[in-house]
Amino acid sequence: MDAVYDCYNENSSEKINIKEYFSDFAKRIKWIYHGDGSKVQSTCISDIMNAEFGEEDMQVLTDYCSVDNLTVPGEVSKIKSTQRMRCKYIFKQIQTAKATNLHTLRNVEKSLQENNALISGKYKKESFITYEDCKLRDNLAIPGQDILVSVRVYEPFQHYSHNLKDYKHIPRIVLSRVIEILGSQTLAQLRDKISCISDLSIPTEVSNNPDVKLGPMAKDVYKSGFLFIENIFYNDTRDPNNLNYSQVIKQWAQMRDLGSFQTASLEHTRIDSLTVRFGFPWVYQHQGSCEHLIVFSAARLINENDEQAVAAYPRVQRIKPSGTKYCMMCSDLSVSWITTDNDRVPHDLAYYCDTCFRSFNYIDGIKIGNFKAYAYPRNPNVMVDETPSSSE
Ligand SMILES: [Zn+2]
Ligand SMILES: [Zn+2]
Repeated sequence: MDAVYDCYNENSSEKINIKEYFSDFAKRIKWIYHGDGSKVQSTCISDIMNAEFGEEDMQVLTDYCSVDNLTVPGEVSKIKSTQRMRCKYIFKQIQTAKATNLHTLRNVEKSLQENNALISGKYKKESFITYEDCKLRDNLAIPGQDILVSVRVYEPFQHYSHNLKDYKHIPRIVLSRVIEILGSQTLAQLRDKISCISDLSIPTEVSNNPDVKLGPMAKDVYKSGFLFIENIFYNDTRDPNNLNYSQVIKQWAQMRDLGSFQTASLEHTRIDSLTVRFGFPWVYQHQGSCEHLIVFSAARLINENDEQAVAAYPRVQRIKPSGTKYCMMCSDLSVSWITTDNDRVPHDLAYYCDTCFRSFNYIDGIKIGNFKAYAYPRNPNVMVDETPSSSE
C-alpha cells in the first residue's frame, strides 16, 4: 500500500497519535478555557502574564493588538467567513475594488465581466452544507478539550497499473464529501456517514414486472466492509453475518511476503485512538470490491463557535455534487432504469428514463425481446415524493 502511494509521503504529516497530540496541545492552551469550556475573560490575562493592568490599559492593549491594525488603506476588506467560499468572496471584492491602477485587477475584472469566466478556487465545485442548531443538547462537546477531525472521502475508483501507457483514460480521483467527526466517536460512525451509489443499488431483476415493489438496497443486505488505515484492517463486525474481507487480502499479502497486517473492529475503534499520517490516502472497501480512498485531512480542538451537540456529529461538512445521468433515448429526463443483455440495444448497459424504458421495452405491458432490468440507484433521502394523491 505504502509503495503504491509513496508519492503522497512528501505531502503527508508524520504519524500522529490524535489523542496524545491534542491532550498535550490542550494543556498548552489551558489558560484560554475554563474547565467547562467557557472562555477565560480578558481580566485573567493579567494574571497569566504576571502583570497588573487596569481596565484602561487593557483596552489600549486590546486595540493595539487588534488584527484590524494589519490593514493598509484601500485594501480588500477582511473576509468574514474563514471557511466558506473564500475564493468567490475575494473575486467579488476584486470586482468592486476601486484599485484600477493595478493591471492585474483590471484584467481580472475585465475577464469576469466579458466572459462571465468561471471563478477558479479550491471550493469552486464543492457545496458547503448549512445546518440548523442541533436540538439534542444533553451531551455537549467541550471547547478546548474535544477533538474535531475532518476526513475526505473520494468517489470509488479502480487502480490502474503505472505501466499503462495511455494516461488519458485513467479516471481522475474525485472528492465525494468531507466528513467532520469527533475524536470520541468511532470508525463505524464514520463509515455510516459515507454514501456510495453501490450501497443504494437494488439487486433485484424486474424486467418481467417493473411495477413490482422493489427489494431492499444493497447496503441493507450486504453490510460487510473495512477501513484500512496504517496497515490495520478495521472490519465491520456489527452484523454476525458480515464477511471478513480482510482475510483473503492478508493471505494474498502473506504469500507474497508483503508483511503481516493487523485487524481490529470498526465499531470498537475511537477516532482519537488512531495514529495516522494526515494527508495520506487510506482505503474504505465495501460491497465486495467498491474501493474509496479516504484521507484524514485536518484535526483541531472544538471551539465555542462550533456546533457542540455531540449528536450533530459525524456530519458532512461539504460535498462535491455529481452530475445527473440522463436517459440514452430522450437525453431529457434523468435515468430511472438500467438494462443489460438487451438484444434490441447495441450496447450494454443501457440507461432509460421511466417513460422511454416502458415505451421501448414493452407493448401493452408485455416485455419485448430479452433483457434484464434493474432500478437505477438513487438516494431516497434526497428524492421528492411524486406519488399522486388519491384525490387526483
Ligand atoms: Zn462505494
Ligand atoms: Zn427518456
